[in-house]
Amino acid sequence: MEENKKMVSKLIARGVLRTESIIKAFENVDRKDFCVDEHKELAYIDRPLPILAEQTISQPTTVALMTEAIRPSKGDNVLEIGAGSGYQAAILAEIVKPGKVYTIERIEELAKFAENNLKEYTNVEIIHGDGSKGLEEKAPFDCIIVTAGAPKVPEVLKKQLNVNGRLILPVGKNTYTQRMKLIINKKEGFEEIDLGSFAFVPLIGKHGFKNN
Ligand code: SAM
Repeated sequence: MEENKKMVSKLIARGVLRTESIIKAFENVDRKDFCVDEHKELAYIDRPLPILAEQTISQPTTVALMTEAIRPSKGDNVLEIGAGSGYQAAILAEIVKPGKVYTIERIEELAKFAENNLKEYTNVEIIHGDGSKGLEEKAPFDCIIVTAGAPKVPEVLKKQLNVNGRLILPVGKNTYTQRMKLIINKKEGFEEIDLGSFAFVPLIGKHGFKNN
């Protein structure tokens, strides 16, 4: 846990982590607990790491940046698409509790991995399925975070945002580099903010890339 704290201190020093509740969540969630055994010793380096099924746990800087951008707060209703290891969901769950986090994962093996890693979190629900369609039955959401790269912003996700709700996702036509988009559902319409260039595994599904 000492090493995790050092990782968090570096993110604070670089100005990536700024909000007290988010900093606390990063301190409480040990990244090592979400890495596979063969990569646990690399848990605190600022890199994405392989998990299962050729997928990755995102880089700490990216998790911090996306979390800060969607401004989650206590009581929020949150949707994550791309549970992976469950690390991002755990961070969000710490911040919004007693609010809920729904996290969708398309690969069954990973949904189980995330479920196991998140078993102490009573305010997280892991769903195995295609998250590109969102989760209409639990909408509206205060925050929607997509941790896989989409070819374009799925309209269906915008429709599941609360007023003033925030959607963040990497968007790009090619499967391995994207622009990070923050979309805010303002009363007067959707505001879209570009947060720079990123590299994510692809979002595969009805409103993502086709699986071939
Ligand atoms: N947020 C994760 C974490 O904290 O470990 C990292 C996510 S990883 C970069 C992207 C994940 O998105 C992969 O596990 C992948 O299987 C998943 N994914 C891709 N398309 C999806 C879809 N349509 N619905 C749900 N999950 C999807």
